Amino acid sequence: MSATSRPSPLLIRPEKDTFLNEENPFEGMMSRFDYAAERLSLDQGLYKVLRSPEKQIIVSVPFQRDTGEVEVYTGYRVLYNTSRGPAKGGIRFDLNVTLDEVKALAAWMTWKCALVNIPFGGSKGGVVCDPATLSNTELERITRRYTSAIIEILGPDSDVPAPDVNTNERVMAWIMDTYSMHKRHTVTAVVTGKPIAMGGSLGRREATGRGCMLVTREALRKLGMPIAGTRVAVQGFGNVGSTAAMLMEELGLTIVAVSDKSGGVYNPKGLRIKELQQHVREHRFLGEYKEAEPITNEQLLTVDCEVLVPAALENVITRHNAGDVKARIICEGANGPTTANADRILEEKGVFVVPDILANAGGVTVSYFEWVQDRGGYFWDEETVNQRLERIMVQSFDEVITMSEKHRVNLRTGAYMQAIERVAAVHRLRGMYA
Ligand code: GLU
Repeated sequence: MSATSRPSPLLIRPEKDTFLNEENPFEGMMSRFDYAAERLSLDQGLYKVLRSPEKQIIVSVPFQRDTGEVEVYTGYRVLYNTSRGPAKGGIRFDLNVTLDEVKALAAWMTWKCALVNIPFGGSKGGVVCDPATLSNTELERITRRYTSAIIEILGPDSDVPAPDVNTNERVMAWIMDTYSMHKRHTVTAVVTGKPIAMGGSLGRREATGRGCMLVTREALRKLGMPIAGTRVAVQGFGNVGSTAAMLMEELGLTIVAVSDKSGGVYNPKGLRIKELQQHVREHRFLGEYKEAEPITNEQLLTVDCEVLVPAALENVITRHNAGDVKARIICEGANGPTTANADRILEEKGVFVVPDILANAGGVTVSYFEWVQDRGGYFWDEETVNQRLERIMVQSFDEVITMSEKHRVNLRTGAYMQAIERVAAVHRLRGMYA
């Protein structure tokens, strides 16, 4: 490809005084994609294909509130790339959902599935709403109406949703039921992250957090750092953050800080995660917990620790706070927690960033296992699930290290390169349908 055919990554890659729009996750994703594609010398045609989402759907979701009032919310589903298999990706219910965010998240799913080498493409969906203000029955009506609005693209062979921000097993059960009622028979493999009793996989709920723990363990080993005495701060105490904190504590690490949207708690000697999980079950948020010092979400990111796990939302580590991060390792439990501008600052500081598409890939990996079990109608015990997850996470970590060392790039670029290479290889084999 000629140097003029697309902007040089050196221009795209944020340099000291040329900052990207940090808030736009799609631009952030694209700047990393461009940089990795350039390093791979990806040919011009494939570059254009892989930069474009395959399908973007915007739907209106009308529903009746419990009061009888009618509201209309907006829903999205983006299929970014399906060359390697059915589209795979979560659905989030959140007020901040935008088409650009869903596009970025769908692209990340494409790279993530390719990186851990499972036979899926990438997709993502979302409904713009605030679940905290909705009753259970309202949530169910929204879920069913959104599902029916996108039903043509759903299916075990075409697009398979899963939980994401503010959605859970309950929501997946409603999606599976709505889809199955339309098909006139039960189709368990249309969603993953379902309740175990209706075709869910053992170990799925813990899988993303378990994956974070496994890659953190590998990162410590790689850097020659000990387990004992290593301090961890975890932002986000939902499914990913709380499980990662619990499994890291079990591994022997010291969890010094955790937070949720109500704020956080800090204890330099170590928190007891099971106790905090119990507190959250009883009081919903961490805020009221009295046995440790309070800390804000912003403070948590720059607290004294060796490992930082951002496991909440996008864009929390930015050019404004990246310089103050004390951690030696960042393990990205969330999707897109670090902006492209922050990447450069962290790289200069020598922070070892285990990128989202690797660090949080445990979830979709066990989603793959769930889909396989549903389709085979034969279910595995939890030990088998966890062993197979560990094998994939460790191998993917090693592959990213090898790629990064070979091309002398950071882990994020190495991970993108590995993933883009795999997607591009399938495009080359399949050729172009004209
Ligand atoms: N929402 C999760 C993610 O971002 C899981 C996706 C899935 O299991 O399909 O990776």
